[in-house]
Amino acid sequence: MKPIIGITTFNESKPRKDYNSVSRNYIRSIQLAGGLPVLIPVANIEEDLLQYVKQIDGILFTGGEDISPLYYGENPIKELTLTSSERDEYELKLFKKAYDSSLPILGICRGIQLINVALGGTLYQDINAQLTGSLGHLPAENPVNELYHTIDLNKKSKLYEIFREGRLKVNSFHHQAVKDLGNGLTVSALSSDGIIEGVEAVEKDYLIGVQWHPEDLTLRYPLFIKLFESFVKACASR
Ligand code: MN
Repeated sequence: MKPIIGITTFNESKPRKDYNSVSRNYIRSIQLAGGLPVLIPVANIEEDLLQYVKQIDGILFTGGEDISPLYYGENPIKELTLTSSERDEYELKLFKKAYDSSLPILGICRGIQLINVALGGTLYQDINAQLTGSLGHLPAENPVNELYHTIDLNKKSKLYEIFREGRLKVNSFHHQAVKDLGNGLTVSALSSDGIIEGVEAVEKDYLIGVQWHPEDLTLRYPLFIKLFESFVKACASR
């Protein structure tokens, strides 16, 4: 039996209907790594949330909307974009249950930010507006699998154990980033302008967040499947 990997979804309102959806690249990457993906809808039902956490073997928090800064004690600056309080609330609860059950957790883009906020950390609401000297992190016209900037990996991190490279070229599609670290987190990767591009929890068996989008790189650059393989392996060994 393959391990069941829960994947969180977007709240998307289209003219005629509302959707819970997610990029197929998350699904493909989990499949490539040997996991069985299960999409988790945004639905704030306490009982369901508990059952998901019981029945899945690990959870992937995906990219998407900005997290409301109200969750880290700030009001929005003008550069904040789309938020979804329903998704925020649901994912924060889901994270807490998963974290307390020591379920393997992988967070990507919004996912790393969600992990950080859930553990009491803060975010740059907008890197350009709030961090002088920051470099490019959101080439909106680039294909999603285009390598864009470098990151340096902390040699004592799990991320380094996974990739065995001190420096990686990654894609980048974010205007927000981790600012003050949440409780129990350490930095595993930094870009050259000092933006946190990876975090992990030392006291948990598997909790990794990355700010870039490895799921969009796995087909063109097989190196990145290693991250999903390590995650699925951790889920399988529970
Ligand atoms: Mn970046």
